[in-house]
Amino acid sequence: MQNSQMEKPRHKYRIELLALLICLALMAAWSLMQQASENKKIERAKVENNKPRFYLSPLGVPPRWQQLDDYQHTITKEQFLHDLTSYFTVSDAWQRYIKVGDNYADISMMANDTTAIFRLNFADDSEQKKSVRSWRRPSELEKLNEQQPLAGLHIAIDAGHIGGEWAQMEERWYKIGDGKPVTEGDMTLYVARILKPALEGQGAQVTLVRATTDPITKQRPNTLLEQAKLMVPAPQTAFQLNKAAEGLFYRTSEIRARADFVNQIIKPDVVLCLHFNAVAWGDPAQPSLVDENHFHILLNGAYTDDELAYDDQRFSMIEKILQGTIHEEAALGATMADVFAEETQLPPYPYEENSTRARNVNQHPYLWARNLLANRLYHCPVIFFEPYVMNSHEVYDRVQAGDYQGLPVVAGKPRKSLYREYADAVVDGMIKYYREERAK
Ligand SMILES: [Zn+2]
Repeated sequence: MQNSQMEKPRHKYRIELLALLICLALMAAWSLMQQASENKKIERAKVENNKPRFYLSPLGVPPRWQQLDDYQHTITKEQFLHDLTSYFTVSDAWQRYIKVGDNYADISMMANDTTAIFRLNFADDSEQKKSVRSWRRPSELEKLNEQQPLAGLHIAIDAGHIGGEWAQMEERWYKIGDGKPVTEGDMTLYVARILKPALEGQGAQVTLVRATTDPITKQRPNTLLEQAKLMVPAPQTAFQLNKAAEGLFYRTSEIRARADFVNQIIKPDVVLCLHFNAVAWGDPAQPSLVDENHFHILLNGAYTDDELAYDDQRFSMIEKILQGTIHEEAALGATMADVFAEETQLPPYPYEENSTRARNVNQHPYLWARNLLANRLYHCPVIFFEPYVMNSHEVYDRVQAGDYQGLPVVAGKPRKSLYREYADAVVDGMIKYYREERAK
């Protein structure tokens, strides 16, 4: 039985052989096609890789240089060079990206493509056009109303950091034993809530950039892991990747989301960024407390050599110069700093001599230019407050005392609550500046 079943007609073998050959031929053709398409992909990738690309800071968006055409003939060469070298740069490294001609500047749009140049034409003294901007100087508001010195002014208050359940991740948190935790993001929000009605009482329109301890950004650390991979050098541990993703979340993505809100929705005349300063405290459960306590205000400027190399940061710097923001920041900041220093009695924070990250502004002891994400991205003057050392003995005692009315003895002398002192100093500074400027 078995033998007779194994016997097959000869032509059947031929058909099977033919089918096998066709199969093999098809497989070979398919594999060749695959290889060709793979080669094409590699070629395409090579071309893409060789194409000049924007060199962008983390989560940065490609700058649209042509927008700067709105500023053609709005600034004189003298003013441009003065602002660039007195406020915005810390060395001559800008000359790598900006070539100044007789009546124009050729600005590199892409650091890695020497042919991508934006030409900015300077204004003649006789035909200087008006700069384009959404914010208003005091001279562009209505004349002073004595009862409402801030009437018509739109102020955005950006309470620095997030606080709440994010405070520990942000590393703006410490706690001693059973004491109240000291958390910057909650403290700035507390000050913002006191400030809003106080400024409104002086006639201002006030918008809080955030009113809660929920992030503005929709991103979270786990949605930023891919971007984090680009930032951590190999070999990458899960711990490093998580840390980088957390930083991208609370430091970068959150501030970028706030900037979108400020620039597209609020469109204020000025942003007040509220922070508390600190010095390194080590273990947040056993922090070191210090005696020093000080205050300074930051304005946008002092782009470092590394920062200038980023196409998006260089673009922002040029736009800031063209809007003349620094002049408003320096004038308002000087009055704000004088009043704040007088009311809080805090000494100035001195940056290191010959600092390459900060530049003193107009020899004012409390005013410094630094390029921070927030003061760079907000499209209007930004006064960035850095008062109080959160881990000084004095501020620790004042945080433990909480908010209160009156002048009880706290940390050795009669004082307003930390939060009211901060808010009152800001309100008084705003009133003084706008009252004086609007009376002119
Ligand atoms: Zn801060």
